[in-house]
Amino acid sequence: MAVKLPPVDVVIVGSGWTGGIVAKELAPTGLKVVMLERGRFQDTSPDFAAPQSHDALKYSRRLELAQDLSKETVTFRNDASQTALPMRQYGFFIPGTNVGGSGAHWSGLTWRWSEWEHRMLSGTVEKYGRSIIPSDMHLQDWPIAYKDIEPYYDRFEKVCGISGKAGNLRGKIQPGGNPFEAPRRNEYPLPPMTAAQSMVMFEAATKNLGYNPFPIPTANCSGDYVNPDGVALGQCHYCGHCTNYGCEANAKASPHFTMIPLARKNRNFELRTNSMVMKVNLDSEGKRATGVTYVDARGREYEQPADLVVLGAFVTGNVQLMLHSGIGKPYDAQSNTGVVGRNYAFQSLGGARVEVPRDTFINPFMGSGALGTWIDDWNGDNFDFGKAGYIAGGGISAGQNSGDPLNYHPTGPGQPRWGAGWKKAMADGYQHSTGVGFQGAVMSYRQNFLDLDPTYRDAWGRPLLRVTFDWQANEQKIIAANTAICQQIAAEMSGKKASATPAPGRLIPGRRFSSVPYQTSHNTGGAVFGDDPRTSAVNKYCQSWDVPNVFVLGASALPQNAGRNPTGPVGALAFWAADAIANRYLKRPGRLV
Ligand SMILES: Cc1cc2nc3c(=O)[nH]c(=O)nc-3n(C[C@H](O)[C@H](O)[C@H](O)COP(=O)(O)OP(=O)(O)OC[C@H]3O[C@@H](n4cnc5c(N)ncnc54)[C@H](O)[C@@H]3O)c2cc1C
Ligand code: SF4
Repeated sequence: MAVKLPPVDVVIVGSGWTGGIVAKELAPTGLKVVMLERGRFQDTSPDFAAPQSHDALKYSRRLELAQDLSKETVTFRNDASQTALPMRQYGFFIPGTNVGGSGAHWSGLTWRWSEWEHRMLSGTVEKYGRSIIPSDMHLQDWPIAYKDIEPYYDRFEKVCGISGKAGNLRGKIQPGGNPFEAPRRNEYPLPPMTAAQSMVMFEAATKNLGYNPFPIPTANCSGDYVNPDGVALGQCHYCGHCTNYGCEANAKASPHFTMIPLARKNRNFELRTNSMVMKVNLDSEGKRATGVTYVDARGREYEQPADLVVLGAFVTGNVQLMLHSGIGKPYDAQSNTGVVGRNYAFQSLGGARVEVPRDTFINPFMGSGALGTWIDDWNGDNFDFGKAGYIAGGGISAGQNSGDPLNYHPTGPGQPRWGAGWKKAMADGYQHSTGVGFQGAVMSYRQNFLDLDPTYRDAWGRPLLRVTFDWQANEQKIIAANTAICQQIAAEMSGKKASATPAPGRLIPGRRFSSVPYQTSHNTGGAVFGDDPRTSAVNKYCQSWDVPNVFVLGASALPQNAGRNPTGPVGALAFWAADAIANRYLKRPGRLV
């Protein structure tokens, strides 16, 4: 029997970027705000203090900062004819937990999506007509134009101290930046990071080939920085223990120090950790949330009444909670109706190996999560994708992120896979090889979706979330085309023919998507935003169409995935939604659209 707690104004589920931003924005309003986080409390000191914070076994092998899969996970299958199986070990993505969520241990590539990536449907139809869109592809526009979300991108970049070089300042193309980027009002808060050897080589090669290289915008600070909220961020020292690790220098922007402490300064804000939300409670008509039910670390159940519920539980957690709670109509792929679980997408990767001369040292142990140089020439609609026979493309880059010896074993094709020969090849490859990689866009389809698993349950007896996903012809073409371009660049960098490096399971021609190896944590969709309640679960403010006192934030809102990382839009959208809640919803609770 749940203990009923005194009511509050707002409950926020999750303490990652989305929950953190809303907490920081709503706490000063004086409302009683409670944040429920399933993981434990953590802070830079002592949790990320060196030297223990560089323990590769603990953080990048055993993934200490990720969710406990023995309690809760997802099941996976490639198509609806298969029986899904649970992800019992970390696989294609890593779900974050603890205060800060994945934001405490992400890499930090922080993009604005291009103007076309905000209106993929209209942009494609205008240029190529409807016939280019396959009948099973659910191509959808964002319900917000780039120009309307631009100030919120700017805010997120300032909060994080993004290091980069503008490519398009108020419509004027800037040398050294991304010439394809959408117009931005301001330069990045910090200059780009120092280029590593692989980036210098990539820049020269891509320029020779007529492409437009630029430094990746990073949430790894190139210098000391104080953000507009007065939070100090340190300078990155290229420690190479970044992705999957916390940062001891606060040089990698994270909600655990840029958002949560500011919210906690307000006495009306309360953070409750080890609090696993089971469901959102609805009134008898299912039209209004009355609060949430959660379980603490000792298994005690609580009912927390609230006037407003904000879900910031990541793509999988948001969709799972909506389905468990009966918020919105579940998606049914057979009839192609319903919205919750619709438009799930992931991301593709691949690349080519670059062998460098023996007097060139790559030094891969120096680097940061987002350190890299990128080209957008084959991404979005920056090229004639209609002629190429597919929709969208991929971003191509070289960088130095983590050369930690437990994980980074760069041997080439035909080299021994074990024993003394492997050790020699690995030692050579460590210093004298690098890679060119791509991140491909993935469109949404009728047959790729999320729903509740009929067989497997979590530690609390709730059905697990089931992921149904496979590569489709469009994505196979993107992957093949981008692999060839990576090989072209790698050959230019090394002066030799370059071999492709499709990592196991990512894409091997003829094989289906494999959920086994880690790829990215860039899941999108499942509760997408839009103007039409028949094809979207939430409106342009990320407010549930069906239960208007529930807001659902994060990449679950994105109708399809782009050839770049999602957290720039996720952060901007959280500021946008928080603004709408504080300045419109609270004044007149009800549907904002
Ligand atoms: C290793 C790694 C590297 C990444 N690198 C990049 C990158 O370079 N660039 C980029 O753009 N993106 C990157 N990402 C993705 C990025 O981290 C996410 O897009 C972003 O952090 C999502 O924020 P969020 O608030 O939506 O979710 P999260 O950060 O996942 O936060 C959700 C929070 O909700 C909590 N929660 C979930 N369910 C419940 C529940 N039922 N009850 C209570 N609490 C709950 C979780 O514990 C978690 O703390 C990376 C992710 C990972 C894992
Ligand atoms: S590489 Fe830089 S940002 Fe990343 S953890 Fe190390 S110091 Fe922090």
